[in-house]
Amino acid sequence: MLEIKPKTPIPEAGKNFDTWFLANTAASWEAYQQAISLTAAVLGECNTRQSQPYSGASPLELAASLAAIEVCPPRAKLLEDILNKVGETVVRHSVAVSHPRCIAHLHCPPLIPALAAEMLIAATNQSLDSWDQSPAATVLEMQVIQWLCGEFGYDAGADGVFTSGGTQSNFMGMLLGRDAYVKSRFNWSVQQQGLPPEAHRFRILCSEVGHFTIRQACAHLGLGEQAVVKVKTDKNYRLSTSALVVELEKLHEQDLLPMAIAATAGTTDFGSIDPLAELGEIAQKWGLWLHIDAAFGGALVMSDRHRHQLAGIAHADSIAVDFHKLFYQPISCGAFLLKDKTNLDLIKLHADYLNPETNEAQGIPDLVTKSVQTTRRFDALKMWISLQALGREGFSQIIDTTIELAAATAQLIAADALLELAHEPAINAVVFRYLPSKVAARDSINSQIRAQLLQQGAAVIAQTRINGETYLKFTLLNPRTTLTDITDILTTIKQLGRELEGQLIA
Ligand SMILES: *Cc1c(COP(=O)(O)O)cnc(C)c1O
Repeated sequence: MLEIKPKTPIPEAGKNFDTWFLANTAASWEAYQQAISLTAAVLGECNTRQSQPYSGASPLELAASLAAIEVCPPRAKLLEDILNKVGETVVRHSVAVSHPRCIAHLHCPPLIPALAAEMLIAATNQSLDSWDQSPAATVLEMQVIQWLCGEFGYDAGADGVFTSGGTQSNFMGMLLGRDAYVKSRFNWSVQQQGLPPEAHRFRILCSEVGHFTIRQACAHLGLGEQAVVKVKTDKNYRLSTSALVVELEKLHEQDLLPMAIAATAGTTDFGSIDPLAELGEIAQKWGLWLHIDAAFGGALVMSDRHRHQLAGIAHADSIAVDFHKLFYQPISCGAFLLKDKTNLDLIKLHADYLNPETNEAQGIPDLVTKSVQTTRRFDALKMWISLQALGREGFSQIIDTTIELAAATAQLIAADALLELAHEPAINAVVFRYLPSKVAARDSINSQIRAQLLQQGAAVIAQTRINGETYLKFTLLNPRTTLTDITDILTTIKQLGRELEGQLIA
């Protein structure tokens, strides 16, 4: 049982409203402190009971247990009771992202300093759209962005903004790339005039393992998915520059209009990093916007040992970085960076109530002019607090450790006759599959292995497809995952594989 009890916050109709309001809003720091202690106690209790990365509960079981609680009860309840209930019904059946055997997606165990920051972010509730809603927060975000720009080799002409993540950052890259191209080539403002008649001929080149949000952005931007031309990769899933040049020549022959390259630094499945420096040269030669999706791999800037893998990234016109992946921030947190900040004028808007032009003339920064969001969280604070708390060295150690673990994991898999490694990992992702004796059963057995691991709660791993065939995937972000964890999971995978094969024959 929890010891801390909040004061009864239920108001009699019309009475004690002031006390009630204090207990239920951040106007009372005492009530806030109690609420935080309660939350931490519930989390602590759930964590100590959670020995597995997942409880194994099915969608139906969860639906039934949650349906038993009325979403909006007629009368107020005690926060302590509510939080205990949430512990039982929600926290206990959440994937334990900090568990060493939760290794499916680019879904990180969040840093404690960042969780502390989240409390400040939520309670101070600053909104990064206008200066008068976030004075210090605005300045701090601008400084974190300037620091990041420097890390990626951009100069003082660069700028950027915090985003909800890679999806929004990729969208902004495609948006500004499109608008800059249309302006320079047709002297046409998409913001004012909409798409020019030539828009259906625009093409964006992206590797065949680039992220789907590039296609999504092109669809949202009125170019259609047809605008994305998929370029072949080499055996390590890096965009092939020779194939790219062939595609560019083909597009010109077909009277189509290539306008941008969307490269990837850290593909979601393989962690592969496209040849950034070469792509910079090609983009310049062909007059293309170069967007680099570094949602996953951008964090390598923090590692002395691995930052060389990003060499050439400074040639990008725009960069997407995610902090809720290899920077270990709670969701959501990302940034969009732009080499030439004057391009932000392409999407600039002024609202009289929020960011009148007079503010700009007075040097008052309203960040809404840089963002596709209006009301926006102060996510920069959690990155800043985390950077202070870990220092460059701390981040570097986590990143190096997890990349080493991925390399060691790949070696184990490559040396095992029952398993097949799909690629040499560039960073933290390892794709492989179990090899049953019956080739025709490969896909279904691998897919069932993953589902059973989740059902048993033994490990949370991912699956993906290569050339239409099913593979398994580990994304190794947790520095507390050991090679013993990996060996155990691989042993279980092989056991399950054999059992499933046996059922097939029986
Ligand atoms: C995760 C990811 C995205 C999407 O980012 P969100 O933060 O999920 O919006 C885009 N590109 C790559 C390479 C990613 O790994």
